[in-house]
Amino acid sequence: MPAWMPPGSGVDKENGGRVAGLDVERIRTDFPILDREVHGKPLVYFDTAASAQRPLAVIEAIDDFYRRYNANIHRGVHTLSQEATDAYEAARAKVAGFLNADSAGEVVFTRGTTEAINLVAQSFLRPTIGPGDEILITHMEHHANIVPWQMLCEQTGAELRVAPINERGELELSALKAMLSERVKLIGIVHVSNALGTINPVAEVCSAARAFGIPVLVDGAQATPHQAVDVQALGCAFYCFSGHKMYGPTGIGGLWARRETLQAMPPYQGGGEMISVVSFEGTTYNDPPGRFEAGTPHIAGAIGLGAAVDYLRSLGMDRVAAAEAELLAYATRAMSEIDGLRIVGTAAHKAGVISFVLDDIHPNDIGTLIDHYGIAIRTGHHCAMPAVKYFGLPATARVSFGIYNKPAEVDQLVDALRRIKDMFA
Ligand code: PMP
Repeated sequence: MPAWMPPGSGVDKENGGRVAGLDVERIRTDFPILDREVHGKPLVYFDTAASAQRPLAVIEAIDDFYRRYNANIHRGVHTLSQEATDAYEAARAKVAGFLNADSAGEVVFTRGTTEAINLVAQSFLRPTIGPGDEILITHMEHHANIVPWQMLCEQTGAELRVAPINERGELELSALKAMLSERVKLIGIVHVSNALGTINPVAEVCSAARAFGIPVLVDGAQATPHQAVDVQALGCAFYCFSGHKMYGPTGIGGLWARRETLQAMPPYQGGGEMISVVSFEGTTYNDPPGRFEAGTPHIAGAIGLGAAVDYLRSLGMDRVAAAEAELLAYATRAMSEIDGLRIVGTAAHKAGVISFVLDDIHPNDIGTLIDHYGIAIRTGHHCAMPAVKYFGLPATARVSFGIYNKPAEVDQLVDALRRIKDMFA
């Protein structure tokens, strides 16, 4: 057993499918999609890192909005508009509470993590940087935390620098620290890597950055569904997240930043809602968060996200994280026993993501064949080409876990992988 492998799991397969205190069998009844079959087999959904499934609570919250109080928000004086506004703003408060923000006004709704990062790049950083300045990211970033900075560098003449990782897929923290200087104007770092599963020491990065006055943007897309996140304790300047990764709708997510930070930032997009007074001579802007929410937002999405946050909180994020750690340990052991299977990303601190290659079978073939067993996994570069390339690979197959996954499904996966391996023998 490799030394990095997590210790024995608390998975109890005989005892009603409980995983580390989470009643997975009961949770599964909250997800109607898990009743369906794929190619005549019960669906096994191992692609939560790409997008989670939605519980009834989320589906019903969206349904309820469209059935009972659908209307545009803010400034409407009629009842429906006021009810919709209240629900939208209540969702913002729920998200703020979930992240331990100081107030609801610190949460800007965006389309998701990608838009949140672009917002910071263009509104926060673009007005102030130029040649000689640096933006520091890591080698394991998702494209969403690479490309907006590359575009910004092209626009401003600043330089993008990349902190290295090691062969386990861990950040080389001392190398990152050695790259810090007054020239660095922002650090962008992923909290949990979607390609490797690595959980980064974000609080430590923030504290090292603070010595140089460098703001840190955390890509939290994969962290918010899996562990309790406390933006104040982390000490970051910006925290970005996506609703659809955390059992909420697509097309909604957000950006957290302190009120003073948001207050000092110019608008990102212009249009309705983000203004205070408009005239042809000049326009004044709304206060945050409205300043950054130009146009009609995804009202149903925000309400659905609020319901997802309520749902996760009802389970308890510590229990969610513990259950995922147990399942990860169980799956890591079981998969490692398959001859020729190599796990890519073996960090000491990992979330429920297992990237792997099997013999020299192309990951896309694995993904296509395993679909015929009803098992949904992801294959490819996972929108993190540099991270996958670091391991000398063009692609991997990736299993990722959600709160509804159980050990018996891992057994099915391992069995299907063995059969696929035999097909190529
Ligand atoms: N960062 C990470 C780590 C991700 O996993 C993803 C989604 N795969 C994103 C950013 C982008 O999120 P979205 O597509 O929801 O904007």
